[in-house]
Amino acid sequence: MADPYFDLIMNEDLANNEYPKDLEAVQASDGHKCLMAQVMTKELWEKLKDHKTASAGWTLARAINTGTCYPSSFVGCHAGDLESYTDYKELFYPVIEMYHKGYKTDGSMKHVTDMDVEKITTGLGDTTQAKIISTRIRTARNLKMFPLNPGGTKETRLEIADLMEKVFATLEGDLAGKFYRHTSMTPGETQNLVDWHFLFRGKDKMQAASGYHADWPHGRGIFVSADEKFLLWINEGDHIRIISMEQGGDVKSVFSRLSRGVAAIEAGLKAVTGRDDVYMHDEILGKIACCPSNLGTCMRGSVHILVPKLIAKIGFDEIDKIARGMNCQARGSSGEHSEVIDRIDISNWRRLGFPEYLLVQDMIKCANTLAAMEIIRHDYAHSDPRFSAVLDDILKSLSVCLFITGLYSTFALPMSTVSPRTTP
Ligand code: ADP
Ligand code: MG
Repeated sequence: MADPYFDLIMNEDLANNEYPKDLEAVQASDGHKCLMAQVMTKELWEKLKDHKTASAGWTLARAINTGTCYPSSFVGCHAGDLESYTDYKELFYPVIEMYHKGYKTDGSMKHVTDMDVEKITTGLGDTTQAKIISTRIRTARNLKMFPLNPGGTKETRLEIADLMEKVFATLEGDLAGKFYRHTSMTPGETQNLVDWHFLFRGKDKMQAASGYHADWPHGRGIFVSADEKFLLWINEGDHIRIISMEQGGDVKSVFSRLSRGVAAIEAGLKAVTGRDDVYMHDEILGKIACCPSNLGTCMRGSVHILVPKLIAKIGFDEIDKIARGMNCQARGSSGEHSEVIDRIDISNWRRLGFPEYLLVQDMIKCANTLAAMEIIRHDYAHSDPRFSAVLDDILKSLSVCLFITGLYSTFALPMSTVSPRTTP
């Protein structure tokens, strides 16, 4: 029997290539947030439903399956190859503009990459540093020679893993390490790697509906450097995820390792394949990923920060709201959708239209703010209930200010200062 946590299960109407009744019902309801459901129409469906992309034969039915099966998914649509983004641009481009607020896909903006650590001008304050458990920055890359994984096969995933194993052999110094394949790991080894926050788990219904987990665990693997600070995920969703992580809050060290690692992997891929262009890339969309949310930098820089008082007092949703106002987001410390106890994962929310170093700065500023809020609460609030009530009002006003500031910078930040505009 098909397992919804791993196997691709299509919505019944989509499997018959019909506009899904479930999607219509969601669209008729109030307050749904799924971006795909906000953009899709019957007219668009009729226009594009019989199209297949050249590389992966990707269809609109496959593209919208996740949001149709799980309307609570925020994005709800996925690409199966590079052409998906252009062949189905009437769906993807509005979704991209809604997710990456302020970015224009009409050609007036171009995405630029800049991973120069020297350009980071803000740091974590001393009090913030003391609350940081670990720092992790990851990016994703997809190889030009293969379809994106949702449109791939067991064979393409295996070819990618074999190719990357050759690339790993080219890594030197602190970047050198070992490649472990899921198919040859014991359950104990797998669990250890998950518990240490190194390994991806699979077993996600929404990702399964996008085809991320097809033929699990074949072709999946993880590369770990000898010092366990430089890692690569192979064939999780994207072909490769490049990760730099370490205990503590030395964000610059983590970012500079990532920057070196990204360059070394690209050089290795070029050497092994003999090709000069190895990654899927687009001038407007930046680095291509299977989920529109990751386009551009594909980068999520995060810290695990200990803020137990804040969590107890205002809760996860309120912390997330504050983070969103600062162009960041909050997650549970065991990854997306995981439980929150005393620590929280704070990371940049924006990915497209901004260079990497600026997104790292977003995360640093947000961590500093939350650490300050935790300290105020910890040192003064609990001693006197009257003070606590006043403090609540101050914190609420602060969140509103931060939210407005965030909205302002999202919409009004002159993108031309960070990414060159070209006249259409
Ligand atoms: P992503 O998809 O961005 O890689 P997830 O939320 O799926 O992130 O988390 C993947 C894994 O990375 C999880 O095990 C999570 O606990 C771990 N992780 C994320 N950020 C950090 C961090 N700052 N320190 C340690 N582990 C982290
Ligand atoms: Mg993830």
